[in-house]
Amino acid sequence: MKKGIQISMKSYEIPSFFMCKGSVCDIIHFMTRTCNQAYQYNSHLSRHFVNSTGQRTLLFLNTSSCIYPTFAQIPFDFYSAFSAPLIVCDVCPVSTRILLAFSLPAVFTLWYNKRMKLQHDKKKFTEQLLDWYDQNARVLPWREDASPYRVWVSEIMLQQTRVEAVKPYFERFIQALPSLKALAEADEDTLRKLWEGLGYYNRVRNMKKCAMECMERHNGVLPDTYEELLKLPGIGAYTAGAIASIAYKRCVPAVDGNVLRVFSRVLVSEDDILKERTKKKFQDIIQEYIPEHRSDAFNQALMEIGALVCVPNAAPRCNICPLASECMGYQSGAAHRLPNKTAKKDRRIEKKTVLVLLCKDRVYLHKRDEQGLLAGLYEFMMLDEQKSRKEITQEFQDQLLRLVPLRKAKHIFSHVEWHMNGYLLELKQEAVEGVWCTKDELQKTYAIPTALKVYREALLTWIGGDS
Ligand code: SF4
Repeated sequence: MKKGIQISMKSYEIPSFFMCKGSVCDIIHFMTRTCNQAYQYNSHLSRHFVNSTGQRTLLFLNTSSCIYPTFAQIPFDFYSAFSAPLIVCDVCPVSTRILLAFSLPAVFTLWYNKRMKLQHDKKKFTEQLLDWYDQNARVLPWREDASPYRVWVSEIMLQQTRVEAVKPYFERFIQALPSLKALAEADEDTLRKLWEGLGYYNRVRNMKKCAMECMERHNGVLPDTYEELLKLPGIGAYTAGAIASIAYKRCVPAVDGNVLRVFSRVLVSEDDILKERTKKKFQDIIQEYIPEHRSDAFNQALMEIGALVCVPNAAPRCNICPLASECMGYQSGAAHRLPNKTAKKDRRIEKKTVLVLLCKDRVYLHKRDEQGLLAGLYEFMMLDEQKSRKEITQEFQDQLLRLVPLRKAKHIFSHVEWHMNGYLLELKQEAVEGVWCTKDELQKTYAIPTALKVYREALLTWIGGDS
């Protein structure tokens, strides 16, 4: 990171930077009247500032004849460190004098630069990170024996799921399916049952496909290069990077949400971390930090510090962070508002009625389609609207022995929310076609989605089982 801003008060031959006060709109408006052209860089950021007068704006005065090559020379971390919108103006010397008078600036800028002294030393950053990891790495089941298979299983499970929640699933899965071969030969219902409660079931379906492909094309092992791993079903850039670096010690990055968040803060990046191009950009940046002989520890250390210190959905714990001296987000005070993420779209709300049908000691289950949400899992009878007790009683009147209202429940998927009410119905006969299973089968054989956990537990309580 270069320290300070280069200011030229006398020579108009080199680019100059100024910190201005005023909204982006005002400044652009003024600039377009006084100089050849004004470009607003990083429109996303600028939108954020556009209505807020009094914010800092970084003004870049370009006096060269061709603006883009000059502009391209501005180091990435130079302007990102200021967390301010950047306006690039193509000016002539005469108007520059006017601008110098207008943009408060030089004095303020000099003072600002002196005060900020933003620091970032890649080597020191990496050393501090690894030192911290050596002393603070958690003992996790998949770290004790980092074989490619175990690393892969753990990384897939850890997507969207907390470490503590994954631990028992991981042990159970590895015990039941200790090798790629066992996974490739496992039947779908066994897999779904092993995955029950983890959610995002297409992960485990892809794992089976991937295991089969490894058996056919890679002699029963996961390939040992990032590029080959990337070709397998269900393995994206992050997972390929994690397996290649942790299990095979390849010098490649593994960039997940934790890593993006940490680096956004460390480099004060305003890029939207949900965008693919941001992930690609950070992969390239992080590649330069990875020490050749400790790529496994480096990638795990970044994930670990993202999970324990530079945390999501809360203020980063900069006061205990070993990276603070190399973190420009901390130094500039910008860390708390980063990373930038596009606002999520509102979820669609679907209203449901869940009917838990019971006939003597058997429970009705329906298998969902093999495609789409919760594909292939088993559910109770589901109606696509919320029905009243009276309506349900009328619908089952000939068959009904007893009807018990159950509590309302809500389940949130990534794009949809289920708002459910439910009833337990004791029927005279197994009046609906589908699976009628025993309590034991319900617990051991059929995978029920977490969304219906409330109703599954209510049923088990009703029939005297353990949930
Ligand atoms: S100093 Fe703060 S913002 Fe920077 S990496 Fe550490 S916790 Fe994150």
